[in-house]
Amino acid sequence: MKKLKDDIVLIVKGIKEISGIRSGLLSLIIIRSIFSALSPFVNIYMSALIINSITEKHAIDYLLSLAVITVAANFLVALISSLLNHIISIRQSEFNWIYQINKSCKIMKMTYSAVEDPATHYLLQKIIEAANMNNGGIIGLLEAIQNLLQHFFTVLFSISLTISLFFTPPLISSPFVSFITSPYLSVLIFIIILINVFVSMYSSSTMEKKMYLLMKNAVQFNRTYTYYLENYITNYHTGKDIRIYNQQDLIRSEYVSLLDTARVFINKLSHNQIKYSMVTTISTVLLSCIIYLYIGIKALLGIFSVGYIVQYIGSIIQFTTGFTGFMTQLVVLRTNNEVLKLYFEFMNMPDDVDQGTLSINKSHVSKFEIEFKHVSFKYPHTENYVLKNLNLKINTKKSLAVVGMNGSGKTTMIKLLLRLYTPTEGTITLNGIDISEYQYNDYINIFSVVFQDFQIFSFGLGQNVAASTFYDQSKVKTCLKKAGFFDRLSTMSKGLDTSLYKDFDEDGVEISGGEAQKIAIARALYKNAPFVVLDEPTAALDPVAEYEIYSKFNEIVGNKSAIYISHRLSSCRFCDDIAVFHKGELIQHGNHDSLLADKEGKYYELWNAQAQYYNA
Ligand code: ADP
Repeated sequence: MKKLKDDIVLIVKGIKEISGIRSGLLSLIIIRSIFSALSPFVNIYMSALIINSITEKHAIDYLLSLAVITVAANFLVALISSLLNHIISIRQSEFNWIYQINKSCKIMKMTYSAVEDPATHYLLQKIIEAANMNNGGIIGLLEAIQNLLQHFFTVLFSISLTISLFFTPPLISSPFVSFITSPYLSVLIFIIILINVFVSMYSSSTMEKKMYLLMKNAVQFNRTYTYYLENYITNYHTGKDIRIYNQQDLIRSEYVSLLDTARVFINKLSHNQIKYSMVTTISTVLLSCIIYLYIGIKALLGIFSVGYIVQYIGSIIQFTTGFTGFMTQLVVLRTNNEVLKLYFEFMNMPDDVDQGTLSINKSHVSKFEIEFKHVSFKYPHTENYVLKNLNLKINTKKSLAVVGMNGSGKTTMIKLLLRLYTPTEGTITLNGIDISEYQYNDYINIFSVVFQDFQIFSFGLGQNVAASTFYDQSKVKTCLKKAGFFDRLSTMSKGLDTSLYKDFDEDGVEISGGEAQKIAIARALYKNAPFVVLDEPTAALDPVAEYEIYSKFNEIVGNKSAIYISHRLSSCRFCDDIAVFHKGELIQHGNHDSLLADKEGKYYELWNAQAQYYNA
């Protein structure tokens, strides 16, 4: 009972979500369901009237007017239905579109810790797969509601046209007539109809459940199939490795074996469909025989005119399909709830970091000071601290290098600084106030960052640097020049309008890792924020470009504060301040000379270890 209540609550929530995504769509769908359900009954009812008028020998005018009404009613219903179909198909594509956008925006808005969490990826994957394979989730709910409503109205219309079958009194009396018109026989006939309904319902809902299970089991197969297709076969980035390592045969055989699995899966699906639809057909044929007999005898006894045979039989058949469909859709609704629940779980994930209230006006504040106070941190769902009791001050107009071996917690420190994660213990302050108290956008505006795994998008070069559709061309060029990209820019015939990569533009240019890194640096400079964070900014650069960046570093960063993260100590020498991280702890702090003077220290050890390779 609790489950039923939860299911109903979830469906109502889903309906509200549908109305929120595209208002008016549901009302249109209700109206269309009435017309779609009405359509067969127009003919059933009018055919009965026409046959009755012939058998009762009405005037030809009457017959003609019935024929005209039939044609007009059919025309009207068809016209309204096709108009509604047209409007609904437009609204429905808008609905699908907004639904997709909402889902994508949610990913961009949710907390970064959720984005990095593999559980989020798995959840989203399941939602997408369910939607692709059996229209699950919100789209599935919309479809099920449409079907449910249409079946509901079919049942309603069929009952209204059948009810008189059981209650029309006989004109003559005899024991046989009394038997045929007895309420017991009516109840028996009604029970037979219900048995048929339940047989059909049972077989179609079992089929639905089995199909759902089959589809669910096919998810893994589908995931692998898509992975091969998108990541190996049609992705040109893999082309080099496939050729060099001769992987064609390996991939082809894996792919072929997947297709074999698909064949078995499709066979199972159609076998299932045939089996259960046979059961429904046999049961319906048996029911039709009994109903024909019952109605035929009543007509022969003169209880009603011949035309009603058409009306009753037509309506009862509509009732059976309508009722079966209605009940099946209830099952569909409940199985669909599994995916709907995932959808809401996803959409209800917390959005961005807590929005603080304090505002920051970059132009009014002359000095920014950031302080890590006893900050410790462990990633969600993990046991070990990756930062331990970190105490560190960062000032504007000074440069800080954070050095240490891989995995020592340098990037994690930046993630905390950028409010991508919240410290597990301790606080980070900006000018003495906890950073979470500042408005998120204001706070984020004081940082320009080049991440280790920075992303350049397949837009125009200028748009990439400015991170905006409209931008200041000369400022973009200045930033590209500072980042060392100017020579490459002069080879691009479309200049700043040149598309990067070929995803959307066949004239797009492929850029190397080093070139991409220069563009990312230019993007950081264009933002003109007081803090510039460079996480391994020269990792993908060639030695010449690396030298260029270092020698011009002060010019590049200007009077901003630079936080420079690297495991290459030689690249950090020029910084005012150097923080040495080791296994999540800040173990040394000072300038290059003072750190190097400590011969027992980690910095000295790292410096000498790396110098060996540079000298070699
Ligand atoms: P560094 O930048 O010094 O190379 P990181 O800050 O990237 O080091 O990583 C510090 C530790 O945190 C590493 O052990 C790494 O595996 C772990 N780590 C990084 N990101 C995550 C994450 N999203 N979830 C769990 N552990 C992580």
